[in-house]
Amino acid sequence: MSELHAITFDLDDTLWDNHGVMLATEQGHYGWLLEELAAWHRARGEATLSLSREEGLADYLERRQALARATPERRGDFTWLRLRALEGQLEAVGLDRSTAILWAAAAMNEFHRLRVQVTPHPEAFDLLETLGRRYHLAAITNGNIHLKRQPLAAYFPVAVAAGELFTPKPDPNAFLNVLERLAVAPSNAMHVGDSWEEDVLPAQRLGMHAVWISGVEDRALPPRVYRIDHVRQLPEVIARLERGVDGA
Ligand SMILES: [Mg+2]
Repeated sequence: MSELHAITFDLDDTLWDNHGVMLATEQGHYGWLLEELAAWHRARGEATLSLSREEGLADYLERRQALARATPERRGDFTWLRLRALEGQLEAVGLDRSTAILWAAAAMNEFHRLRVQVTPHPEAFDLLETLGRRYHLAAITNGNIHLKRQPLAAYFPVAVAAGELFTPKPDPNAFLNVLERLAVAPSNAMHVGDSWEEDVLPAQRLGMHAVWISGVEDRALPPRVYRIDHVRQLPEVIARLERGVDGA
């Protein structure tokens, strides 16, 4: 094989389990908004808004989905979608535009505070530390986690939020952007991620090696694709590649 110089990583559900954090973030920032807004209105002697948590969250989701359909180029820019959706909702229930913009921004600040509270797999720290001594490392995410505030940020000198670049994976541009910044050819690079469609296929088609983190054992793997159950098994794949066991 050609030598390995760079390894790019997906983040959510690759280096940590994302589900619980997303749920807590979704509920948490919206609950914060309703409570803080109610306190603000009370302090001003004004009536509180007629927004319930459950109906408000459902309306917020519908507004994001409608915005994503109306502006397909922003479909992967989740922070933008959330901001615009919250602004629209707050205006619809009676806030003036500038107040709605301020409260939506404050709610998204709370969103990002909660969103970075991910717990990386314990093995990830040593793994990235070790790999970082030998390979260029980069992160490529479709999520909207704050890339410099997330707990593994120090290991990724290059990190890209593909959705905010308007090129969410599986668009190859985020991969190409990162490889260009690292000055590494696709054949000298590996991408590691949990999504077949968004991580494995685009990387493989570019000529990169691709490591799929998945429990699905019965799928035929194209050339240069390797499956592992957990990121802790990554060193075994790399060792096999470096020994040339997998050919190509
Ligand atoms: Mg993922």
